[in-house]
Amino acid sequence: MTDCLFCKIASHDIPVKAVYEDDLCLVFPDIHPQAPTHLLVIPKQHFAKVTEATASLLGHVLKTAADVGSGELPGGFRIVVNTGADGGQTVDHLHLHLLGGRSMHWPPG
Ligand code: AMP
Ligand code: ZN
Repeated sequence: MTDCLFCKIASHDIPVKAVYEDDLCLVFPDIHPQAPTHLLVIPKQHFAKVTEATASLLGHVLKTAADVGSGELPGGFRIVVNTGADGGQTVDHLHLHLLGGRSMHWPPG
């Protein structure tokens, strides 16, 4: 999608420091980190939100987030998918937040 920020990041038109990349997804640091480690996992294919993605793609990005998290954050981590206006989603390209490096609070705000 030409107008989408994360599509431009996925295609490397906007450069980021990739933490992990494969044919289907890219992992890179969030520009406004909310924890000592705050990574975003995005599919390379454009889906506006989690409700639009296929089960196989969701499985892949969730497994990728879990694998990167277990490698980088042995003390534990949180995976978040904000969805829609009430969910706090601000970028309309599916992304998983991978947060860690500190103790997380519950309930979230
Ligand atoms: P959300 O509010 O769940 O839609 O999350 C969007 C996230 O994208 C926010 O945490 C932003 O800080 C992050 N973000 C926006 N622009 C960029 C960018 N150019 N590079 C990395 N992260 C970004
Ligand atoms: Zn996109």
